[in-house]
Order: sequence, then structure tokens, then C-alpha cells
Amino acid sequence: MKVFKKIKDIQDYLQRQKEKKLNIGFVPTMGALHQGHLSLLEACKASCDIAVVSIFVNPTQFNDKNDLEKYPRTIEKDMTLLIGADCDVLFYPEAEGIYPPGEITRIYDLQSLENLFEGAYRPGHFQGVCQVVDRLFSIVQPHTVFFGQKDYQQCMVIKRLIATTPSFHSIDMTIVPTMRESDGLAMSSRNMRLSEEEKQVAPTIYQTLLFLKEAIEAGPLTHIKKTATLKLSEKGFMVDYVGIADAYTLEPIDEWDGQKPLVALIAAFLGQVRLIDNLVIA
Ligand code: AMP
Repeated sequence: MKVFKKIKDIQDYLQRQKEKKLNIGFVPTMGALHQGHLSLLEACKASCDIAVVSIFVNPTQFNDKNDLEKYPRTIEKDMTLLIGADCDVLFYPEAEGIYPPGEITRIYDLQSLENLFEGAYRPGHFQGVCQVVDRLFSIVQPHTVFFGQKDYQQCMVIKRLIATTPSFHSIDMTIVPTMRESDGLAMSSRNMRLSEEEKQVAPTIYQTLLFLKEAIEAGPLTHIKKTATLKLSEKGFMVDYVGIADAYTLEPIDEWDGQKPLVALIAAFLGQVRLIDNLVIA
């Protein structure tokens, strides 16, 4: 596996690969890698000649300083996992390379995606995500990019970033299904911060999503959302939201016509750790 820290070095290397007509797949991550990340790499390797993974804990997408400080950093283990999974290139940049001092950043027009669900609870989060992804895409100039359904709203935001940035129009995006532990808990770097007791309770989020899928029927949805919230609070979660939304636009749905594809989205704290998950329920 080739490891690059400097932008010019990775660009020179990838340029040579592109001249050989090899296509470049790209998996952006913040490290603390787990099987979920590796499933993105696997999908990337299956359809691209060169698989590039980046590890960069992006400060601009954290609205909570404490969350940024506590974010796990496990680069040695990450590199071992990536080598084991046959990753071709690791891009591991320094913050100054990604955000050169004095550089003015664009404001991204994300329309309603900016203020719904994660946007409402993490002001500025998706601007930060777009900033770093814009920068990373511009450096790597990939043919195909891979993102996890685990971060459903983020996938919609990236789709919009690609659609609204002419230089990204040729990029293909693949959304990879969420990898779960055997108890249903969605794999996440943040799970490392859960205590043993919290780990026992955490799968309640997935069980609640399954409850919503089971209970969904045409008509008002307020009641099942309330029941779902209660199921979580009873187990000790501090619920940010239980949402049911149009699976394409993420517009919240309070009254379902029995036809529209729907996604259920949950964000809740267990102790100090904020967990998110989602499920397409109709
Ligand atoms: P992160 O390191 O949390 O920024 O995640 C990097 C990428 O991995 C994002 O596209 C995530 O959606 C994806 N990802 C994180 N957890 C999972 C999971 N459990 N299953 C599939 N993809 C995931």
C-alpha cells in the first residue's frame, strides 16, 4: 500500500495511473476503521483499478469541540486493516494541506438538506462535510466514490454536491449498505466509546427502526413516532429525533399515502455518545 501525506505526491502518482487508463475509486473516511469502512473498500476494489482511502478527521464538520477531541484516532491499526484488505493507496493528509491558511471556502447551497434532521441538531455540519469532500474530490479526482448508507442524509448531501459542482459531474457515486454487528447495532467508530452496559442497550436503535418498518401503514405517523421515541427513552437514550421522511428528498412525512418510499431516521445519545442509524421502511 502506498501512503501519501502530501497533496502533490498523491496527485503525481494518480496522474500516472490515469495516463495508464486505470480508473480510480475513492473512499473518504475519518479513520478508526471497522468492517463498515472495509465494506466500502471491498465495493471499491470490485469495480475500480486503484482503490484510494483517505483518513482525515475533519475539524470543520464537528459542531461540538468535545466530540472532535474525543474522536478515536487509531492510525497504526487502520493501516494494518487497510493493508490486510489490499488497499492500494492511503491518503493521510495534514490539516494545513486540506485547509491552506487564508483560503476562502465556498458556501454550499444544500437547500432543505441543510436544516433537516442532522442539519438541525448539528448546525454547520454539512457545510463542513461539503468543504472537506470538495477538497478531497478535487485532489483525488476519482472516477467513482463510495459512501455508506449508515450516513443517509450525508449521501443525499454528497449527491447534491456532485450535481451542483460542474467539475464533479463525471463522478459516479455508489452507496454501500450499512454493516451491522450481529445484534443489529450499526458499526460506527463512535461505538468504541460505549461502555459494556451501553453496548448491551445500543441495539435498541435498530430494533426501534425494525418496529417502525413493521408498524408503518398509510395515514398519520405521529403515533408510531411517539411510540418509537418512548421505546428509546425507556432504555435510557436521550433522543434527538425519530423521523420518517421521503426516501429521496428527506422531506418529513406526517401523513403517509401508502405509496411513497420512506426512510426512518434516528439520532440519540447513549451517555456521552451520539448514535445515528436509519432504515428504508417502505
Ligand atoms: P466516517 O469515517 O465515519 O466518516 O465514515 C466513512 C464512510 O464510511 C462514510 O461513507 C460512512 O457512511 C461509511 N460507514 C460508516 N459506518 C458504516 C457502516 N456501519 N456500514 C457501511 N458504511 C459505513
